[in-house]
Amino acid sequence: MPEPRTPLASFGRVKARHRFTVRPHLPAPLVPLDRLARNLRWSWDRPTRALFERVDPRAWAAYGDPLVVLQVAAPERLDAVAADPAFLADLAAVEADLDAYLGAPRWFQHRGESFRIGYFSPEFGISETLPQYSGGLGVLAGDHLKAASDLGVDIVGVGLFYTHGYFRQSLSVDGWQQERYPTLDPHAMALTLVRTGDDGAPPLHVTVDVGGRPVTLQVWRADVGRVPLYLLDANLEENDPDLRTITDRLYGGDTEHRLRQEIVLGVGGVRALRAVAEPVDVFHTNEGHAGFLGLERIRELVCGEGLSFDEAVAVTRAGGLFTTHTPVPAGIDRFPVELMERYFGSWCTTCGVPFEDLLALGRRPDEADDRFNMAVMGLRLAGASNGVSQLHGDVSRHMFAGLWPQVATHEVPIGSVTNGVHGPSWVSAEVDDLLRAEVAPDWSVAPAPAWDGILDVDPARVWATRRQGTERLVRFVRGRLRQAALAAGASPAEVAWTDDALDPDALTICFARRFATYKRATLLLSQPERLRRLLLEAPVPVQFVFAGKAHPADDEGKELIRRIVAFSHDLGVRHRFAFVDDYDIGVARMLYQGADVWLNTPRRPLEACGTSGEKAALNGALNCSVLDGWWAELYDGDNGWAVTSAPDVDDLVRRDAIEAESLFGLLEQQIVPLFADRDTAGLPRGWIDRMLRAWRSLGPQVTAQRMVRDYVERWYEPLARRSIALGRTGHAEARELVAWRHRVEHAWPTVRVELGEHPAEQLEGSASVTVDAAVTLAELDPTDVAVEVVHGRISPDGTIELPIVVEAEPVGVPDGGVQHYRASFRPGAAGHYGCTVRVLPRHPELDRHALPGLIVWA
Ligand SMILES: *Cc1c(COP(=O)(O)O)cnc(C)c1O
Repeated sequence: MPEPRTPLASFGRVKARHRFTVRPHLPAPLVPLDRLARNLRWSWDRPTRALFERVDPRAWAAYGDPLVVLQVAAPERLDAVAADPAFLADLAAVEADLDAYLGAPRWFQHRGESFRIGYFSPEFGISETLPQYSGGLGVLAGDHLKAASDLGVDIVGVGLFYTHGYFRQSLSVDGWQQERYPTLDPHAMALTLVRTGDDGAPPLHVTVDVGGRPVTLQVWRADVGRVPLYLLDANLEENDPDLRTITDRLYGGDTEHRLRQEIVLGVGGVRALRAVAEPVDVFHTNEGHAGFLGLERIRELVCGEGLSFDEAVAVTRAGGLFTTHTPVPAGIDRFPVELMERYFGSWCTTCGVPFEDLLALGRRPDEADDRFNMAVMGLRLAGASNGVSQLHGDVSRHMFAGLWPQVATHEVPIGSVTNGVHGPSWVSAEVDDLLRAEVAPDWSVAPAPAWDGILDVDPARVWATRRQGTERLVRFVRGRLRQAALAAGASPAEVAWTDDALDPDALTICFARRFATYKRATLLLSQPERLRRLLLEAPVPVQFVFAGKAHPADDEGKELIRRIVAFSHDLGVRHRFAFVDDYDIGVARMLYQGADVWLNTPRRPLEACGTSGEKAALNGALNCSVLDGWWAELYDGDNGWAVTSAPDVDDLVRRDAIEAESLFGLLEQQIVPLFADRDTAGLPRGWIDRMLRAWRSLGPQVTAQRMVRDYVERWYEPLARRSIALGRTGHAEARELVAWRHRVEHAWPTVRVELGEHPAEQLEGSASVTVDAAVTLAELDPTDVAVEVVHGRISPDGTIELPIVVEAEPVGVPDGGVQHYRASFRPGAAGHYGCTVRVLPRHPELDRHALPGLIVWA
């Protein structure tokens, strides 16, 4: 019988019974290219990228993905490359370099302690070729893993593989965001299916109970330099159809869908780590989404190690770090009690934990909301917690102060590590060359003094470097505008204007990010005529490039995009004001490298950190931003511009108007004139000076290498030590710790403290003050408690404004259960002061505020 000619698919869908992957056939000398394409280090290693570009420059320009290049390159082309000795020599060198990168001891190995971190996040933005991210959190997680790899930190990433990733954006003719969800093929990406053994062995499966039904998960592994990233995937035939779609898309679906995704991430993630034999000492939970990992660890300890619930919580806490990434309560997941009961009732039975005790983990004593709050559980099950900038740390301490009743807000134990960005992933080749030459060959890990070198660089070279990025951006935007217009049905004649859109010499101002209302992308549109004058009548050409997506369910965000797009369609300004669609890592990188000014206008303090300005800064752009997130701590008056913030104005319309006025003022009176002021060689010397100062002050601070080192030194290492100590000898220390806690909790209601001898009411300037306190310890021992004198300036109502804490020392021995204490301090400059005293439980394995509620004040 002849073969049927008609494609069968036209009669309906034909279901494959078996799937297989055809890998491109590479000539033997090119086989190492496959290995280079599968380690995502290519995404930040220029020599590796250059190799793939040489294989097929057109395919590289079109796809920017090594695996696709190998797939689409013509066989003759591959044969030619395979016969080119110069190429093969470079290939050998790049492969040797990868081996050295993977094997050699790095910063972490020189520290001497060995432990492993499990980094859990609902999204990871490693490269635009692996679209498993929506924005800030994912890109940050990707940069965290890359920087950890560069530093040799022993870390493992855990996330989900979403069949559709996040959505692709296009615009309707009238500028309304349209979403598409193309199906991703993990087999065609730089992912390896984890198997139970060698190549032919069956895939490794992990099972998780989701509301009484088992879900089977397969696990994909991405190699991010030295760091493995495991992505869990429920899209398997053996799962019921509604369970297969648990990992369908990022941030889609209703509350129950989110709950199921988070069970797979948290519970499945811990099980996957066990299954692939990656034992972890510290679990780093990023945002509440991954929080169920804590419940899985408790279950393991209760069922596997025979610990009590309290002991299991103590052990889980010891090895847990919780990082909050949002400054708004609405950004936190909360699940109704009824859903928690349905999905965690069996967990309670298995662990012998009353359902009320589980609920208590996710509830705030000071709130009426009875839903289960993932951030609250995250904080309770972590031995340490942090926000992602200094300001966000402060905001978080206020936001969660209710969990630590009776302590001053600034003492709430939530610290901060300011986010950073992975330099080599974001800077252009020409900026990389400049920084290598003027700062250090490994500038992204260089200490601050190395950045002094940048001040001596030839201004003409700086300027030429900066313009190259803008030229590339202009070419890119022209291409994208053209493509988008043709796709929307315009004729080639109608899109001809895009050939001349934008100007490589103009002052280029970029704004790219998620279109959430608080980011106020449309602040400039509040005065359209003034904006028009800025674009068309300033002493130098001025142009804007915008990009960004709104969450599919966020109509307000979409409306902001529509307004930007409508303005960009205006015939009078469309050559100076562009919106680029389908924002992703690739588009973002183009903007960071092409901007003279990076604009950010959040409503302070709603930007937890923000990282896009950091990426632009590394490329030599100057930030013009509201003092929020990272910029609030790194702006020094001289390295960019600060838009006035008016947080005390409650009327948002008025507040926005004030801040827009400040922004226009900066643009018109400072930014444009500085850019326009040229020397005889045509160089804007004042501008270049500011660029150099910005590089020097920001360069060493904004890198993810600095961030990861901060995490290792402040949190990972101390937590790992504690977690390893508690795990020794069958968790003997954990059992003792919990027995101690029970003893202290039992005795606590009888603990009293009284202020003894008061300082005189009038004191001379530098006099020292001594305070005595009598503490009724009842059944406790002096070593069980810390007695602290709290002092400081007081306001008229008697409140100590910025309390300072000094530890008091025992005097003599207890007498009838009462122990005396004494502390001395010097109050400081003249003024009104006050003091008081308090008692807290003290244990060498616990932080001061680890047992909230157990505190007695005089
Ligand atoms: C850096 C980055 C972000 C985060 O930027 P913000 O400063 O938080 O707005 C989001 N998306 C992409 C693609 C990025 O590269």
